Amino acid sequence: MTKLDVDLLVMTQMREYVLDQLEARFRAHKLYEASDPDEMLARIAPDIRAIATGAHKYVDVALMDKLPNLEIVSNFGVGYDNVDAKSAGTRGIIVTNTPDVLSDEVADTAIGLMINAVRELPQAEQFLRAGKWKSGEYPLTQNTLREKRLGIAGLGRIGKAIAERAESFGLSIAYYGRTNQNIAYEYHDTLKGLAEHVDILISVLPGGAATDKAFNAEVFSALGPTGTFINIGRGSAVDEAALIAALENGTIRSAGLDVFAKEPHVPDALLALPNAVLLPHVGSGSVYTRNAMGQLLVDNLTNWFETGKPISPVAETPFPKT
Ligand code: NAP
Repeated sequence: MTKLDVDLLVMTQMREYVLDQLEARFRAHKLYEASDPDEMLARIAPDIRAIATGAHKYVDVALMDKLPNLEIVSNFGVGYDNVDAKSAGTRGIIVTNTPDVLSDEVADTAIGLMINAVRELPQAEQFLRAGKWKSGEYPLTQNTLREKRLGIAGLGRIGKAIAERAESFGLSIAYYGRTNQNIAYEYHDTLKGLAEHVDILISVLPGGAATDKAFNAEVFSALGPTGTFINIGRGSAVDEAALIAALENGTIRSAGLDVFAKEPHVPDALLALPNAVLLPHVGSGSVYTRNAMGQLLVDNLTNWFETGKPISPVAETPFPKT
């Protein structure tokens, strides 16, 4: 493995499997370890040609302004709302993400959350662990997956992997997105319209300004008192206060959430709700899948500097340019 004559800014702690490769191929500068990150940046800024980053580590215009020779930002994760990709595109900086390799894992997690939220499996386990079974059976759940309609907001790579799985449960499927894909599933051009039509609503929408607080009081009201809301996309797409109110006052019946507006902070009001199943953003969180994502992050960087072609550039920074 030859070392490339490239200085790389590593903005976030990476798995050892990834970091070992980055250090073998690049002069890796670990910003997250610096006692004075501003001083470190000022010292190495002109040399930096690449960035490796991940969730909650922002690559914004202010940072790009400091790095005159930046060519590529390789992001760990398919969601890249932590990178100002539009501004990168206008500057000719490539942004890459890690699509496809995580779709099946995230879809598995979404299905797990859905079953847990609908059939109350975590609550039933708590009941058993608390020794309550000896005094009587866990109540029958009001909800079931039988004869239900599932709505998927964001029928992209992960959304389609969820739909494939959901079909085997016998769920009828509808979806919302900006584009009618003209496929067998029923299309709705508004979130409210989809929510009105379904029993279970799963969000796989990306974060960012375009989807900010898209799931609001009106959407939860449309989902209705027997409805279940699942979020595997981004927390920013949900008006969390409206969701908490909807769960508290019975506007919807239950929720399953893997993502939150201000991670790792989860509002106390959500923690207190018995009808919310909560996960700490573990959608893609297996060693197998995180290694695959890490490999794609590394391969995007090495391909760029060895062949001049990124593997998975995002839509805002297409390659070759359209
Ligand atoms: P994708 O293939 O790009 O799919 C995104 C879907 O959302 C597309 O179908 C798109 O359809 C729709 N969409 C995008 N922007 C929209 C907007 N402004 N309004 C309405 N619909 C919009 O992405 P993916 O690979 O499935 O990943 C989706 C998201 O999942 C990521 O962005 C990330 O935030 C999240 N994610 C979460 C985890 C986790 O651990 N929980 C893991 C991986 C990914 P149209 O273009 O037709 O609108």
